[in-house]
Amino acid sequence: MKIAVIGSINMDIVMKVHRLPEKGETLMASDYRTVPGGKGANQAVAAARLGASVAMIGALGNDAFGDTLLKGFQDEGLNVEGIQRTTGASGNALITVDDQGDNTILVYPGANGDITPQWIHQQEKLIQEADWVMLQLEIPMNCVVAAAKLAKKHGKKVILNPAPAAELPPELYTFLDLLTPNETELALLTGITGSEAGMQELLKRGVKTIVVTLGSKGSMAKNGDGTFTAEPYAIKAVDTTAAGDAFNAGLVVALAEERPLQEALAFANAVGALTATQMGAQHSLPLRGQVDDFMKSYQA
Ligand code: ADP
Repeated sequence: MKIAVIGSINMDIVMKVHRLPEKGETLMASDYRTVPGGKGANQAVAAARLGASVAMIGALGNDAFGDTLLKGFQDEGLNVEGIQRTTGASGNALITVDDQGDNTILVYPGANGDITPQWIHQQEKLIQEADWVMLQLEIPMNCVVAAAKLAKKHGKKVILNPAPAAELPPELYTFLDLLTPNETELALLTGITGSEAGMQELLKRGVKTIVVTLGSKGSMAKNGDGTFTAEPYAIKAVDTTAAGDAFNAGLVVALAEERPLQEALAFANAVGALTATQMGAQHSLPLRGQVDDFMKSYQA
């Protein structure tokens, strides 16, 4: 099963502080780490760990973070032919976290923002080789549209995780086999509160199947066959960073294995839940064996 992920790649710079700095203030941080992230990269690594053959299509800058992130992908077994190196900086985020767990986040898109529709078209071969194309909203919208359109031209299945939340051009909906908002994103896309009516509205706009992630309440879906709900796995959540990305990868991997939607939702719930039991983003993404063991032990 082959998946092409077209999206963002970031290095997150995380500093722990007792309290967040005021305007003009300098504080000493008690901890510093660099953490690979970006929704595209998270979803690509998650899918690879679940057993898919994954091509990452995106951009990195001409800096040390770019080298480190590229090496990380190679270590995960990703196809990196579709990664362009720009002359600027790699995408990054400056994150401060205080003792209460509150944070401030500054995102610099860097190379992610330099991707163009023309360059997406140069990656046609990788899109042609894939069964599924995975998209999110951390690269320019015209590139998301170009990628979805190109994938459809080749008869590929397309999933869009509409995060961070943004309005979508109407034609984009018509290219989507799957759209996976959380409840906030669903409300923003439709202007409707209430999941059932919101999902119905998105189907009307042309998407084949809507899947809504519900955090600790699991997930639900709607398509022409009806409405599906999948119960959550009861876990002790430690850090839900990347749980949504892991869920999306789980969903696509299960559907690419031709499993029915109800089963795919349960599998994706398990992948999301396991990710939430660990601190970190890419670091916390589970391997296929861990997910299978978790699902078996849960049923026992
Ligand atoms: P997002 O970050 O995109 O809003 P969610 O927080 O909804 O994503 O998490 C994605 C999926 O991960 C959920 O639909 C669920 O399957 C799983 N998940 C996340 N948090 C929990 C939790 N506390 N308990 C069980 N499952 C969880």
